[in-house]
Amino acid sequence: MRFVYGPVASWRLGRSLGVDILSTTEKTCSFDCVYCQLGGTANKTAEWKVYVRMEEIEREIKAIADTIADTTDVITFAGMGEPTLGVNLGEVAEVIRRECPKTPIAILTNSALVTDKRVQEELKKLDIVVAKLDASDQSIFERVNRPVSEEIKLEAIVEGLTEFRRGYKGKLCLQMMFVDDNKDSGAEMARIAEEIQPDEVQLNTPLRPCPIKPLSQEEMERIEKHFKGFKVSSVYEKMKPEVRVIDKVEVIKRRGAEE
Ligand code: SF4
Repeated sequence: MRFVYGPVASWRLGRSLGVDILSTTEKTCSFDCVYCQLGGTANKTAEWKVYVRMEEIEREIKAIADTIADTTDVITFAGMGEPTLGVNLGEVAEVIRRECPKTPIAILTNSALVTDKRVQEELKKLDIVVAKLDASDQSIFERVNRPVSEEIKLEAIVEGLTEFRRGYKGKLCLQMMFVDDNKDSGAEMARIAEEIQPDEVQLNTPLRPCPIKPLSQEEMERIEKHFKGFKVSSVYEKMKPEVRVIDKVEVIKRRGAEE
C-alpha cells in the first residue's frame, strides 16, 4: 500500500485509516509548524494540484474495502502534508463513499485553503472536518504555524472557516495545538471559536515526538476553562483505541516511530 495506511489510533477519531493524496517522499505543506511530527516542510507550497493519480488510489481502496468496516471507525485524509492541496480530494472521497458506504470520511486540514470556495465545496463532501486553528493573531500564527507565503493570513482563514461552517452540514471540529508561544491565548481563541461555531473544539499539545515541549496537564486544564460553552476534547483526557495496522512502515513514515 502506498496511499492508504493504518489504521492508526487517533485520540480524536478512534481507529482511523489514513488516505494520503499527496504521498510525496518528503512533507508537502503550506505551513511549517514548529511542532510538526514530520519535521521541517521540504516542499513549501500552497499550490492546489494533482499529486497522485486517481486510479492509483482507487486501486488500493478497492483492494481493502471489504475489511474496512471491521477494522476502522473513520477514513481520514491526512499523511505527508496538507491534504487540501490535492485537487482530487472530492473525487477520492466519492470513491471511498461508493466502496465503503458505512464508514464516515474525515480530514485533518491546516485550514489555509478554506479561504478558497472551490476547496470549501470539496470539504463539504466529507462527514468530519478537523480544521487547525492555533493562533489568535497574525504574529502568533507566523511564529507557530510559519505559513510558507506572506499571502496566507489568519484573518482570512477565520473568515473562511466561519463561511464554511454556515454552509456545512457535517461535523466541524477546531483542532488547537497549544505550545509555549500561544498558551496565553486561550480566552481570545475561545472568542474566535464563538465566531466560527464548531461542533467540537479539540485541545491538543504535542505529546508525540517533536522538537517542542508539550504543555503540562495543569496548563492545558487552565486553557480548557476558557472553552466552557463548547463540546471539548482534550488530549490528556482521551484514551487511544486499539488498532490492527496493515503496514507499519507506511504508518511510521507519516506518524513517527511511537505508533
Ligand atoms: S499543517 Fe500539519 S503537516 Fe503541515 S507543518 Fe503543520 S502540523 Fe505539519
